[in-house]
Amino acid sequence: MSQYQAVKGTRDIFPEEATQWKYVEEIVHTLASLYGFSEIRTPVFEYTELFQRGIGLTTDIVGKEMFSFQPDPKGRSLTLRPEMTAGVMRAALQKNLFSSAPVHKLYYIGELFRKERPQAGRQRQFSQFGAELIGASSPAAVSEVITLMMHVFESLGLKGLKLRINTLGDTQDRARYREALQAYFAPFHEILDDASKERLEKNPLRILDSKNPAVQELVDGAPRLYDYLNDSSLQDFEKVLFYLSERNITYDIDHRLVRGLDYYCHTAFEVTSSELGAQDAIGGGGRYDGLARELGSSADVPASGFAVGMERLLITMEKQGLFAALNHPGPLVYVVVQQQDLTDHAHQIAWRLRKAGISTEIDLAARSMKAQMREANRIRSSHALFIGTEEYTTGNYTLKNLATSLQTTLSLEAVLQILHKPAARELLDV
Ligand code: AMP
Repeated sequence: MSQYQAVKGTRDIFPEEATQWKYVEEIVHTLASLYGFSEIRTPVFEYTELFQRGIGLTTDIVGKEMFSFQPDPKGRSLTLRPEMTAGVMRAALQKNLFSSAPVHKLYYIGELFRKERPQAGRQRQFSQFGAELIGASSPAAVSEVITLMMHVFESLGLKGLKLRINTLGDTQDRARYREALQAYFAPFHEILDDASKERLEKNPLRILDSKNPAVQELVDGAPRLYDYLNDSSLQDFEKVLFYLSERNITYDIDHRLVRGLDYYCHTAFEVTSSELGAQDAIGGGGRYDGLARELGSSADVPASGFAVGMERLLITMEKQGLFAALNHPGPLVYVVVQQQDLTDHAHQIAWRLRKAGISTEIDLAARSMKAQMREANRIRSSHALFIGTEEYTTGNYTLKNLATSLQTTLSLEAVLQILHKPAARELLDV
């Protein structure tokens, strides 16, 4: 055992699990492109200001949850990205993407870093996939984002996920609502905890998120943002719900689902899985028209997006048995050397097979023929190709199907051709 351990809150992904990741990633790539989203990859670290400005100062992510460092004493502070959206928007603005086309549809799969206390489903390094639809304000745009996310879940075979949705209205709606909340909570000042008292001043919407039971009880009787929406905000929300219903996407409207940051507006949503414990959110997202302006754009840029936590998605899939049929694929052929003096020749054959695009494995530890066969079976190779004196002199090799034990002797050219064509393999019973 090594004296070194992986850092708490990080984890290693070994080959079998990596196969599960690749399977999920493959579906994300396929569906994102089906909906017309293109992949973006942004740096893992950015200048700290991007996240401080981007996320806003009243959120928990700032300071407490960020891994920040200063590469040299005079240098600017850098931060490992705690979220993807700010980096994507920074990249889009930096490249002046909007001068070429008004709407950009981007998706990503990437690693994030948050200095949270590690627990089940909560790591310090984790991954998300997500999409950002930038430049369109119509309800169709945010609906498209939600639909893509739900389509990925459906394609993966996930069951029992809950989509909760709400609207935050526009800036004026929220200003009116904020006042109403302050007026409502003011008489209960004694009941509020310190965090809620601070929020009451700065950002009363965030009190609605409180996990404190006494505060939650107060929240139950609080006014609802929904009742402070103007007609156009209401119509926007109704239309989003209409699109979801049309697509058989079921949802619950949750008036408590709020995002307290100024750059969010209109639709907000979250997906939870009952398969997860306390950390039951699998993904979420919404509209964030004000972010571009916070990052220096002269005007708001309408945008919507979602982010899904890969680890929690994979935990849920595992619990639902969705990886049962997924095998780490074995090679198509294992080259078995019958005599050690033919090792070089065998390696040459293995190279030719690989060059021809046939997945091939060969012993690298001078093991006995029996041990090589054991290994071929262990790694689930479909075939074995035997290299012995007779094969070497005649140029004809014995190819054995390890599932059926049927074997046949063929020239190397024929072996290459047959291993390339599954139908030919069946015909020849190999
Ligand atoms: P957020 O960016 O906080 O809205 O999170 C989006 C999704 O990322 C969540 O629903 C989780 O699935 C996942 N997530 C967030 N934080 C963590 C974490 N510390 N560890 C693992 N997954 C996380």
